[in-house]
Amino acid sequence: MPMRMTFHGAAREVTGSCYLVESAGLRFLVDCGMFQGGKAAEIKNRHMPSFDPEAIDFVLLTHAHIDHSGLIPRLVNLGFRGPVYCTSATADLLHVMWPDSAFILEKEAEWRNYAKHKRRGELKGEAAPLYTVAQAQAALKRLERIDYDQDFRPHARVRACFRDAGHILGAAIAEVWLQDGERTVKLVFSGDLGMPGRPLMNDPAPVEEADYLLVESTYGNRSHKSYEATLHEFVGALNETLVHKKGNVIIPSFAVGRTQEILFLLTEFIREGRIPTHTAIFVDSPMATEATEITLRHRAELDVDGRELLAWTRGNGGGPYIRFTESVEDSMALNKISQGAVIISASGMCDAGRVKHHLKFNLPRPECSVIIAGFQAQGTLGRKLVDGARGVKIFKEWVPVRAGIYTLGGLSAHADRDALLAWLGRFKQPPRTVFVVHGEEETAIGFADAVRKRFDWPVEVPVAGAVYVLEGGKARFEGIP
Ligand SMILES: [Zn+2]
Repeated sequence: MPMRMTFHGAAREVTGSCYLVESAGLRFLVDCGMFQGGKAAEIKNRHMPSFDPEAIDFVLLTHAHIDHSGLIPRLVNLGFRGPVYCTSATADLLHVMWPDSAFILEKEAEWRNYAKHKRRGELKGEAAPLYTVAQAQAALKRLERIDYDQDFRPHARVRACFRDAGHILGAAIAEVWLQDGERTVKLVFSGDLGMPGRPLMNDPAPVEEADYLLVESTYGNRSHKSYEATLHEFVGALNETLVHKKGNVIIPSFAVGRTQEILFLLTEFIREGRIPTHTAIFVDSPMATEATEITLRHRAELDVDGRELLAWTRGNGGGPYIRFTESVEDSMALNKISQGAVIISASGMCDAGRVKHHLKFNLPRPECSVIIAGFQAQGTLGRKLVDGARGVKIFKEWVPVRAGIYTLGGLSAHADRDALLAWLGRFKQPPRTVFVVHGEEETAIGFADAVRKRFDWPVEVPVAGAVYVLEGGKARFEGIP
């Protein structure tokens, strides 16, 4: 049987990363992520895995984000028996993220069953969660920790190596050398690539060759706003609120990655005297607190700026005032603070978690502000705020929006079009085929055109379920089974 690759997810969409490689009796996956975004995604998750999990030899996992890792507990529960290779930081993050994801899935299933029960007066065909907390715990035992730049052998015919992708803590580019009969074929999976020049994370490591390359394209059709301009805007919003209007600032934030970057920026603003020294910063999200602790444990993997700033913070009598709230009572107590506080809280899109309480208390106050620093999907509370809603519903109550709403466009954990092209530009010879993945359809097709135009390489934009034969030269589309 010739060597094959099947695109089970993140094909003409951003979520559900999952690629199956098969070669003469060997089968492995790169990533096995959850589809995210409404009902359609839920149905796809229930159909996964659409292959026999028992037949998979191993999984290479690029990073902890749920759209790359989130279906692995389900894979394990349905019969996958092999190891999951990832970096040590990724493994640490998964110890927090998988049980958290499972807890949410359990709650959703419970709620659905309860609603059904109420409607019909009886319980029929209970909705089971995609996986449970116990199943997530069991899956954690499969993780095998591998350092960056360290060759390892997941199989007698496979050599692999993780390179720093500069995206979030522990994120990796996977290089894979596969013995396929007489020849060695090199596959490269970009994973998610970070934006170069950002604090904390290193720039994505360059790769110089591949026979077949998969590259992400989340922002393949746009340029990020300049980072300096974004920081200027951020400082402006903080001072306007804290100094002039004497209110609080609420920053809804993703627990992993974004929270740490914001803490880093706030600390730097204080060090540079750009915002008041006495600014009180609160991180009010248990998961963000854990993710920050994990980041500090892995500080050797941060870039030079990140390490220097940590050293300054520690040598400065404790540095800025940063408190991590733990109990619900501590969280509630924050609502008694009327001014001078910056509250960073999850969830990032304001749809769940403690941030909803802070929004409820602070949105009606014109002296306060909400700073939105991350992507807000259609239909979320965060998106309504960005779109200028005059009022929103929180916990079934109507809350008028009188606070200032600032949207910062320039913070992103993904490389933009030019940065992606620059990363591709480091290749010393053309790959036989470049597969553009992990981008909305229009974006992926647009980015594929940009790659053809710039490098004149063979490029494919696989559709979901597509199978390609990787033999000889250019990859050949075989069909969708
Ligand atoms: Zn990611």
